[in-house]
Order: sequence, then structure tokens, then C-alpha cells
Amino acid sequence: MASEKEKAQQVAAVRPPAADQPTIFDKIVSKKIPATILFEDSTALAFKDISPQAPVHFLVIPKKKTGLTGSPSKKSFKRATEWSSMMARTDARQSSTSTCMCWEGASLKQPWADTEACLLAPGQSVFHVHLHVLGGKQLGWPPC
Ligand code: C5P
Repeated sequence: MASEKEKAQQVAAVRPPAADQPTIFDKIVSKKIPATILFEDSTALAFKDISPQAPVHFLVIPKKKTGLTGSPSKKSFKRATEWSSMMARTDARQSSTSTCMCWEGASLKQPWADTEACLLAPGQSVFHVHLHVLGGKQLGWPPC
């Protein structure tokens, strides 16, 4: 169990950029940095993870983020979820192997404004809400 001091150090170490600072995913959305885009519409974007952890590994993000942890509007998050689920199913049919979708980042169970809980999300490195979709091979649990 981390002490209060250790917890404070952990939070400081992973503090996300201020809400008005673009994340790397904002730069992908605005095409300032390249990505292999799989799907895009006005509310969400799916692109291949630059460091794939499975034969299929892509991210689905809402284009619009608000607040410190990049919480999406309810509508755009719903769309992002629908797309990642749809694409995961499509890939599972093509590869005949299991496909897994995992949610990482700010927990859906946490209020978006619960800064500390979001900052301490295990392993999170980009503070823009995103879904990892992994597949193309038999995955263990946890999948990553
Ligand atoms: O969940 P976490 O925040 O760690 O995931 C961020 C993901 O974004 C990583 O899997 C990383 O490989 C991916 N990424 C990317 N393209 C970038 C920067 C990060 O696909 N330009």
C-alpha cells in the first residue's frame, strides 16, 4: 500500500498536460502527425497502434475531448464504443481467432472530474480517452 507521499509522487510523475494542451492524439486527429487511419467520421477516429501488442491492435478515440482527462461527450464515446466493437467482430471473423477489446484510461466508473483516480490509471500514457482493440491471436487475460 503506497504511503501518501509515494502516492503524491506517483501523481506528479504521470500528471497529464493541462486541458488546453493538445495530446498526441489531438495531433493525430488534426493530421499534424501521421497515423494509419482505419476509420473516421466527424466524432471519432480509429487508427493502428504505433506499437502493436497483437497482430491486430488499433485505438478508437473520440475526436473531441473536454476536461483534464479528455472525457468525450456521451455521444462520441458511444459511437467510439460501437465502432470498436464492430471492428473487433469483423476482425474475429476474418482471422478465426479471438479478439479482445479492453478499456484503458479514465475509468467509466469514475466521475470524469476525479483527477486522482484518472491519473493513477495503471500504465496510461496518453491522457485522451481511448479504447485499445487487440486481436488476431489467442489472447490471455489480462490481454496486454
Ligand atoms: O493506454 P496508453 O495511454 O498507454 O496507450 C497509448 C497508446 O498509444 C500506446 O499503445 C501507444 O503505442 C499508442 N500511440 C500511438 N501513436 C502515437 C503515440 C502513441 O499509437 N503517436
